[in-house]
Amino acid sequence: MTPEQREKRRAYQREYAARRRREMPEHVRAIYMRSKAKHLEKRRADSRLRSRVRSGIVDATDEARVGRCALCPFVGALVCDHDKQTGDIRGWLCTPCNTALGRLGDNEAGLTAALAYGRGKGR
Ligand SMILES: [Zn+2]
Repeated sequence: MTPEQREKRRAYQREYAARRRREMPEHVRAIYMRSKAKHLEKRRADSRLRSRVRSGIVDATDEARVGRCALCPFVGALVCDHDKQTGDIRGWLCTPCNTALGRLGDNEAGLTAALAYGRGKGR
């Protein structure tokens, strides 16, 4: 592909993406905006955490800590679990446990609902 062809293709892709955003149905736009907001919030939380590492509040070597997950018997590489609002470090979890907490809404209501479900009480 020549540089001219590449530029022509990029221009078309930009125009196509802009047209798709303009012509997006309202219900799809609502989903898109929620997803975008969630993504931006995660980026801000990650940025707060990195800033805490830079300022020495959190040890940078802790970022790729190896040990035992605070929730399950897993031993290996852990991720830093932090409060998304305050950026405070809560502990060290394996990726599946950290992901599970996030999927449950990262709040007491989500955990309580999961516990009730696990005990067979459903909603
Ligand atoms: Zn775990």
